[in-house]
Amino acid sequence: MDRGAGRFAPSPTGPLHLGSLLTATASWLDARARGDAWYVRIDDLDTPRNRPGATDSILASLDCHGLHWDGPVRYQSARIAVYERALADLAARGCVFFCSCSRRTVGSQRIYAGNCRARRAPTPDCSIRMRVDEVAVDFDDLVCGHRYEVLAETVGDFVLRRRDGIIAYPLATAVDDGAGEITRVIRGRDLLASTAAQLLVIDRLGLTRPAYGHVPIVVNTAGQKLSKQTHAAPLDPSRPLANLRLVLEALGSPAAAAPAGTSTELLAAATGTWSIDHLPATDPVAPS
Ligand SMILES: [Zn+2]
Repeated sequence: MDRGAGRFAPSPTGPLHLGSLLTATASWLDARARGDAWYVRIDDLDTPRNRPGATDSILASLDCHGLHWDGPVRYQSARIAVYERALADLAARGCVFFCSCSRRTVGSQRIYAGNCRARRAPTPDCSIRMRVDEVAVDFDDLVCGHRYEVLAETVGDFVLRRRDGIIAYPLATAVDDGAGEITRVIRGRDLLASTAAQLLVIDRLGLTRPAYGHVPIVVNTAGQKLSKQTHAAPLDPSRPLANLRLVLEALGSPAAAAPAGTSTELLAAATGTWSIDHLPATDPVAPS
């Protein structure tokens, strides 16, 4: 059988924190335990949110925690022509429409009401949306089990390209993860809700579905996901071993307390005992 691959795909919006280290480590361990490749992709399409220096900081942080990747780092910003071709392909298949609704109109709807579904030609300042029709998507998540979702009820016609021309997350992620190279996407449970939309894009483009596993996310004592918005503290690069032990403990790894002098030794112990079955059912709380 061909060697599979996993990936870690951060957005360069700030330094890694304990939560992003946890998803990176889970994905790395899952790949290494299977003998798979592990790639790093920088999801840098949302340029207004990118922060100068964030990519370098993330890569240095992965490196100092022993999470070494294969091959060159990939950048979504270098692949815009590929996403545009996928969009043209979807348009040729009648899967998309052009939406000229104002932000105010759409913002007041829980699910997009489909006002522009008949628009098959672009207008200035329009977004491009995927038609979800009455399609049901189902998949077996490696962690969360069987999922069945009727997109019209959960997400509605979602945006593939924003009004400002920026390719939206569901399209770029589907094109990259569906290209056949990535076989397992291990990422945070906060992204479980966006998976069905990505699978619809993958299916409509005739791409290859990877397997998905959505792991618990680290929350603060208020129950919020650690993120830049919730002011998560950046990782202290001077204590990689302690950071990794916290993360392994949160992943239920029996190796969390294993004797180790370096990150690489600790990760080797964790790789040998890695199992998705060890993951806790509830989200781990970051120490304050
Ligand atoms: Zn519209």
